[in-house]
Amino acid sequence: MTTKLSEEQREKLDGELKALKALENGIRKQREPFDRMLRDVEGLVAQTLERYGVDGDPIGHCESCETLLVPGDLGCNCVDGPVLCADCAPTWGDLKKQLENPIVTIDLDVEDEKGVPPREHMATIAAHIAGGGSLDDKIIHPL
Ligand SMILES: [Zn+2]
Repeated sequence: MTTKLSEEQREKLDGELKALKALENGIRKQREPFDRMLRDVEGLVAQTLERYGVDGDPIGHCESCETLLVPGDLGCNCVDGPVLCADCAPTWGDLKKQLENPIVTIDLDVEDEKGVPPREHMATIAAHIAGGGSLDDKIIHPL
C-alpha cells in the first residue's frame, strides 16, 4: 500500500508522531526506577534458586497438592495438561482404567493433545508391565 500524503498532511502526521514519541519517552523515563527494581528482584530470584541448588526456573506447582516443582523433580506431566508431583501422579493402572473406561468416547487412533494416539499409551502400559513394572507403579519422570 502506498500513501499519497499532501505536504500539509505529512507535516501534521510528523508532528503528531513526534508528540506521541515524546509521551512514550516520558513514560519510559518515569518507569526506569521500577524497571531497575524489577531487575533487582529478578537477580534475587536467581540468587535464591542458586542458594537452593535449583538449576532453572521452577516448573510450577502440583495441580493437586500445590507442592512447588523444580527441574529434576520426579512427577507426571499429564497428557491432559496438569503437572503432578510424584505423590499425586497417577499409576499405570489409573491410565489403563482411564483408557478402558473413558469419561468421554475416545478413538484409540486419534492423537491426544501431545500427538500420541491412545493406542500407543496402551502399548506403553504393556511394555511397562513386560519390563517387570506394575500397574501400581506411579507414572513419573524427571520434570
Ligand atoms: Zn502433588
